[in-house]
Amino acid sequence: MDTLFLRPKPTRREFLQVATASLALLGLSQALSPRVVKALEETSGKPAVVWLHGQECTGCSESFVNSLDPTAAAIILDTISLRYHETLMAASGYHAEEALEDAISENGYLLVIEGAIPLADDGLYCTIGGKTFKDIVRESVKNAAAVICVGSCASFGGFPAAGPTDAVGFLYKNTKKHHEFDDVLGDKPVINLPRCPMHPESLVAIIVHYLTFGDIPPLDDFQRPIAFYGELMHDNCPRRGQFEAGHFLTDWGDPNQAGYCLYLKGCKGPWARHDCWKRGWNGTSAYCINVNAPCIGCSEPEFYERFSPLYDRQFDVTLPGIGKVDIDKVMATVAAIAAAGIGIDTVITKLKGEES
Ligand code: SF4
Ligand code: SF4
Repeated sequence: MDTLFLRPKPTRREFLQVATASLALLGLSQALSPRVVKALEETSGKPAVVWLHGQECTGCSESFVNSLDPTAAAIILDTISLRYHETLMAASGYHAEEALEDAISENGYLLVIEGAIPLADDGLYCTIGGKTFKDIVRESVKNAAAVICVGSCASFGGFPAAGPTDAVGFLYKNTKKHHEFDDVLGDKPVINLPRCPMHPESLVAIIVHYLTFGDIPPLDDFQRPIAFYGELMHDNCPRRGQFEAGHFLTDWGDPNQAGYCLYLKGCKGPWARHDCWKRGWNGTSAYCINVNAPCIGCSEPEFYERFSPLYDRQFDVTLPGIGKVDIDKVMATVAAIAAAGIGIDTVITKLKGEES
C-alpha cells in the first residue's frame, strides 16, 4: 500500500510505460503513445471516479492495488481523482457518505461498480449507511459519464447470483439482461470486466483509453472489451496438444499425468473467452491452467451457478467441423487404441462417422 500512496508524482517515463502497455493490451498502434502520454499528463486530477462496493469480497480492489508491480495502478490513481472508495478512502461514517453525495452531485465521473446488487425484498440484503445498494447504484448512475463493472459479480451476478437474494450484475443476471436501471442509465456506455477477480491491467487500459480518446474500445455482446475477451482459452491453451492426444488428467497426484489436459477436471476453457493465457496475473505468467487448475470460466456470464460444481465436467465439447463430442466414448476408444498411437481427432471423426 505504501508503494501505492507514498510515492512521488509519476514521471513522463512512467506515463510512457503505462501508455505502451495499455496500447499493447488494447491492440492499438504504439505510434499513439505520445497522444496517450499527453492525455495522462493533461488530465491529471480528473476525471473523478466513484467506486462502489456491493455484494462482493473486495477481491477486485485487492487485485488492482496489490498488483506485484503497482506502478500502473498508482499512476492511474494519481491521474484520476478517486472521490469515493470504501476500502481506500481515509474518511468513514458520515464523512464518507457526504463524500459520495458530493461526488455524485457533479456530472461526468466514471462510476466503477464492484459486487452484485441484490434485488430481493427491495434490496434489503445489502445496505450501506442505511441505504440499499440498489438505491445507491441508482443515484450514482444518474450523473455518471460511463459505468465500469469490475469483476464477475458486478458484471453478471457471479457468486451472489447463485444465492437467495436475487442478486444481479448491473446489466445482467448471468446471461439474461434485466432492465432495473434502464431509466437512469440512458445511453451511457457500460463496460463489463468480468473475472474473479478482475485483471488489474484491463481496468488501467480502459481508463487510459477513455482519457485519451474520450470513448471506450469495441465491446462484445456482453459488453466486454473484445481486446481482452475476444478469444477462447481452449484455442490458445498450452495443454491443447494433450487434449488432441486424448491425455486427460484424472489424478492430480499422479506425476505421469503432469501437464495433461484438465477437461475431465471441469475445465471450462472450451467456453471461456479471455486473455489470461496471454498476460497472466500479478505481473507474471501465472494463471489457473499454468498452476495446474482448470479454468473455471469466471470470465463468462454463466459463472458461478451454471458452471458449478467447478471441478466437475458438465458439458460435451463441440469441435469445429465435427460437432458435439461424447468424451466418455472418445476416452474409451482412445484407451483401446492408445498403443496404435492414433490421435483423438481421428477417433472423434471415426465415432461421428459411425453415429451418422
Ligand atoms: S480443456 Fe482446458 S486444459 Fe484442456 S486444452 Fe482446453 S482449455 Fe486447455
Ligand atoms: S483462467 Fe479462467 S478461471 Fe482462471 S482467471 Fe482466467 S478466466 Fe478465470
